Amino acid sequence: MDRNQWQSLKAQLLAIGTVQVTGEPADDYYSRSTAGPGAGGQGSLFFSCDGHRVRLSLADRSPVMVKHSGNGRAVLMVNDEKFEGMLERPALHCPRQAYITITPTCIFSCRYCNVPVLKGKRKTIEEIESLVESVYGSIDAISLTSGVMESIEEEEAYTCDVVSRLTRFNLPIGVSIYPTIHTPARLKKAGVVEVKFNLEVATPDLFTTMCPGLNFGSIREILRDSVSLFGRGHVFSNLILGLGESDIEMKACIDSLCSDGVIPIIRPLNPTAELKEYSRPDAARIERIFRYLGFALERSDLNPATALTMCPACMGCDMIPGRE
Ligand code: SF4
Repeated sequence: MDRNQWQSLKAQLLAIGTVQVTGEPADDYYSRSTAGPGAGGQGSLFFSCDGHRVRLSLADRSPVMVKHSGNGRAVLMVNDEKFEGMLERPALHCPRQAYITITPTCIFSCRYCNVPVLKGKRKTIEEIESLVESVYGSIDAISLTSGVMESIEEEEAYTCDVVSRLTRFNLPIGVSIYPTIHTPARLKKAGVVEVKFNLEVATPDLFTTMCPGLNFGSIREILRDSVSLFGRGHVFSNLILGLGESDIEMKACIDSLCSDGVIPIIRPLNPTAELKEYSRPDAARIERIFRYLGFALERSDLNPATALTMCPACMGCDMIPGRE
């Protein structure tokens, strides 16, 4: 399959978001998440084809079908077309990474996020260490994310302790948490090589509605500062596509992040939590914004293909220029 074919197939798949699995049992290939777009759902699978990858949420009914014929071999069917590929085994959460949620609960209540209602228990440092040990040898990176259990400052301190313990694995470590102005330097000192501080929302006005109690301006400032510590192309920020922003607003936010050396990760909305009535963006919009992102990244001389950790290294949920 050529690049253009894959890109338009992936945009269609991300617009649907789900998959129905038939054929041989495929439980070994399922991932169950406590953060990210699949948090709290039935689970998900990773389908790969010619070096490309997509993550789809498991559903009892979906216009996308995957027929598993054993040992990971699978055929994906959508719109009367068939594509041969493989199911990939996740290490922890996604293939080739130990991507661990430290604290699967949160004191904030961003309207698009399921984590606050999950009320999960924080993992001890020993638990996290043994999780990494359990997949060591089949991973290229360690990625950490977290909700906020008590306060942003307390979560940052705990995350730094976790990172310090995990440096002995000699793998690149990426961290995505809610930051304070001191977070980038503290994470860097602890041994982190990449950070992802998620803006999630493309405009300050929408941010105020979607993320009560949090501050758009301070995340922008912290992202800017992070680039001087971690380097251009090693600082990321998720932006959700479909929260009510226009294409013009999304493109302006992409431009602004890229011009600071930050790589935006454009994530199609998964309507959940308080946004169950919203719709996923359609395939045409996903592809249009992906093409614009590619242009903006190139203009700023940023290449997501050099990312070592987290979502730009995984590329399951998003369309990542330079990797698709
Ligand atoms: S793209 Fe990010 S959220 Fe999605 S499966 Fe990969 S690591 Fe998880």
